[in-house]
Amino acid sequence: MLAFQANAVVDKNFDYHVDRFADIEVLRYEVPEFDRLTLNQKKMIYYLSQAAQAGRDIIWDQNGKYNLQIRKLLENIYKNYKGDKNSPDYKAFETYLKQVWFGNGIHHHYSTDKFTPAFSETFFTEQVNALPDSMLPLLPGQSKAEMLTVLTPVIFDPTVMPKRVNQDGTIDVVANSASNLYGEGVTQTEVEEYYAKLKDPNDPEPISYGLNAKVVKENGKIKEEHYHLNGLYGPAIAKIIYWLDMAKSVAENDAQKAYITKLIDYYITGDLRLFDEYSILWAEDTASDVDFVNGFIESYGDPLGMTGSWESYVNFKNKEASSRTETISNNAQWFEDHSPINPKFRKPNVKGVSAKVINAAMLAGDAFPSTAIGINLPNANWIRAAHGSKSVTIENITEAYDMASHGNGFNEEFVIDAPTRKMLEDYLYITDMLHTDLHECLGHASGQLMPGVDPDALKENGSALEEARADLFALYYLADPKLLELGILDNPDAYQAEYYKYMLNGLMTQLNRIEPGKDVEEAHMRNRQLIAAWILEKGKKDKVVELVKKNNKTYVKINDYRKMRDLIGQLLSEVQRIKSEGDYKAGNELIQKYAVKVDPKLHKEVLDRYSKLDIPPYRGFINPQYELIYDNDGNITDVKLKYGENYVDQMLRLSQDYTTLGF
Ligand code: ZN
Repeated sequence: MLAFQANAVVDKNFDYHVDRFADIEVLRYEVPEFDRLTLNQKKMIYYLSQAAQAGRDIIWDQNGKYNLQIRKLLENIYKNYKGDKNSPDYKAFETYLKQVWFGNGIHHHYSTDKFTPAFSETFFTEQVNALPDSMLPLLPGQSKAEMLTVLTPVIFDPTVMPKRVNQDGTIDVVANSASNLYGEGVTQTEVEEYYAKLKDPNDPEPISYGLNAKVVKENGKIKEEHYHLNGLYGPAIAKIIYWLDMAKSVAENDAQKAYITKLIDYYITGDLRLFDEYSILWAEDTASDVDFVNGFIESYGDPLGMTGSWESYVNFKNKEASSRTETISNNAQWFEDHSPINPKFRKPNVKGVSAKVINAAMLAGDAFPSTAIGINLPNANWIRAAHGSKSVTIENITEAYDMASHGNGFNEEFVIDAPTRKMLEDYLYITDMLHTDLHECLGHASGQLMPGVDPDALKENGSALEEARADLFALYYLADPKLLELGILDNPDAYQAEYYKYMLNGLMTQLNRIEPGKDVEEAHMRNRQLIAAWILEKGKKDKVVELVKKNNKTYVKINDYRKMRDLIGQLLSEVQRIKSEGDYKAGNELIQKYAVKVDPKLHKEVLDRYSKLDIPPYRGFINPQYELIYDNDGNITDVKLKYGENYVDQMLRLSQDYTTLGF
């Protein structure tokens, strides 16, 4: 049926399921085609994987200043526990530790709310007291009692560091976020004033201000401390540099060598101009099969959207599937020229939107265990405009999600009728992949800012509106006959599968990820609710989409898919205008009206229906292991790929082998 079938070879016996706790399921992913790589490519993946793991502690520390200390303490309690492993306190402790591992700290990776331990403070204190001082992660000069005085409320008191990223625009989002991206006592106004002075609004090639910096207050003065070899996170960065250097020795070509060299120089100096130079070289290298990201990249963890969370992806090209995205990319200008937006906001020359499908080989930092299914980098607007960007769809991760979900009862519970379920079965996998391709290859790359518009003008709504723009672009074109003409889809109605799923998710099922009484917070979720709720309201008169009741259950019913597409085009036009003109007010009104508030009755219904299905709201992955094989003379002859590890063992091993920042 499909012109471009996803992976041809799927190992039906591969065991995707690893662990299950709280609201999380941990999966493993397969790395198909690894054995087809050359020895040098395999070595490169090994070295880059080491560089990826070496940065692990950075994200833990960025996420909260007590995280590394708490991790060490919890792991030592876990490893030395002598009591009853079936006691409720111990079970709750084990769950908490698994949650903390998954969150790279004491806050939920997605909601960013602090985890609530279900074990008692007494249990905790007893376990700490049972450990000898040598096993306690004490700060220099700190006693056990002092450590407990600090850490007990951090773990147990819900009012202490309650949220990692606070995006409530009515309060000081810097002072009220528990992440460690800003120093003690620093306020939002101080940070904004500090950067306002640094930024030159007329600079056509601005550096990414604050990307690798912690803004601190010293003797009442605001200043930046940078992440680099001799600065913050130096010991971890030293290890990263070592492994990047090893990777450079087996690079596939000179272009790749050049960008690795530049990345190392940037890690040594912390100079953001070098990071931009690296980003350009990296974006322009589309020839190499093995590729990676390693650095301070995405800024979702910063309430002001500036500081990059450390992450790493190591991957290599999936050649078959890449032909699909290459076709889309080669036609980027056609899509841009036909976009339903004001022509002055279109890019006259969409440059080098490179796209490929990759297999992930190692996930790390902010991209682990929870991970994205697509990446589009670099993030700097001017680099994207002048040099293009690299856009990837991660095939083996998408596939693992899909394979792990088969037969979980979701469609039977939430999809309105049998014909719609059939449509989803036939077309959702391919249209979901295409949605990601279009979102990453074209959506984020499309459109232009009007001269003089500050790229950060949309402030705390910037991420959600940018995701909305990319999603709307993707949704609009999924229904375009162009995809049939290009041979990517074979059925003009295939897009309806994605449209149905999008509305169902945005209006109902994503609420499963939110606790009762809470608002929608995360940028991608706000984006999805914004789009779905806006379409529902604007299409009300013509009954384009409805929420209907059957047997007391709510269902999404789509009556007119063509009109739904028109509405998508209209909203795309408005969101692009907001972005192009930097219209904060209009953007904020859209977000506040459609993206944030939750209908408590519907929310409860979704949670109840979900709870009967036993589907975890969040999923993530552990990595495979790579082992070097030597001959008798000590030469590396092969790299072996292994899958068998479980979640706990992997986390303990990472702490054992890759602790770089204290403890
Ligand atoms: Zn996106």
